[in-house]
Amino acid sequence: MYVCWEITTRCNLSCEFCYNFKNLPDERFDRMLSIADALALNNVDVVNLTGGEPFLHPRLADIIDYCYKHFTLMISTNGMFLSKKILSRIVPKTELVGVSLDAVTEREARIMRGRAYDLSIVLANISLFLAYKMKLKINTIITKYNKKCLYDIANFIESLGDPNIIWKLYELTINNNVTVAGRRFGIPREEFVILVDELRSRYPSLRIISSDSDTMNSFYIIVTPNGDVHVPVKNNFKSLGNLLERPLADILREVDFDFDGNRNLMNYI
Ligand code: SF4
Repeated sequence: MYVCWEITTRCNLSCEFCYNFKNLPDERFDRMLSIADALALNNVDVVNLTGGEPFLHPRLADIIDYCYKHFTLMISTNGMFLSKKILSRIVPKTELVGVSLDAVTEREARIMRGRAYDLSIVLANISLFLAYKMKLKINTIITKYNKKCLYDIANFIESLGDPNIIWKLYELTINNNVTVAGRRFGIPREEFVILVDELRSRYPSLRIISSDSDTMNSFYIIVTPNGDVHVPVKNNFKSLGNLLERPLADILREVDFDFDGNRNLMNYI
């Protein structure tokens, strides 16, 4: 199984279309280790450490030290916080890092991610990940504000010269966490499909994968910092129990969870 574990909901950005949970307190470290144990006991294979911004968690490297023997680990980050010190600790134990990149021009990047976003820092950190031989996934949410920038991003990824980079294109996810303002970023499904197809045919050398909002709203399991398990129910995430109180298998039995779809999320690793 593939699980997204939001180790913190704190974030330096406030993207309007953010669907992640917000304003939940960080969990005590010993309880985080208990959550990791519970995931391991429940046949979870891949854990994506997300947030909020996971690099804001002061014990990220300690969490990875504890977890890497049990799971294949991924990190999803907005790319603004990184240091050589933490990189040298996490690279040998982390399979993949996903960095959000929705534009390679400052103006469009800030429309997508807000004024606090600094594209130059993110681009420098992408180079740093590659310099440390970290397998990289670039995550791009396609919206009405960046759809004209997609070729620029493709050219940028090509220019990095690493054929192992995965470029994942997301349709904007609309669920109960997305603000009304965030919903205006979306484009129709048909347009999303056409844009992805065009990019695939124009850039055959890039490893392009895509995820529409149905995927997010059907196959993902999200664990919030305190161990609550949120699963999709009718296109919205609902908390059905806590990992420290009930086995994940019991929690998932309450819904008609699509295990095959969830397993497919791991195909690119
Ligand atoms: S960077 Fe990610 S977690 Fe932070 S506000 Fe934006 S979408 Fe949400």
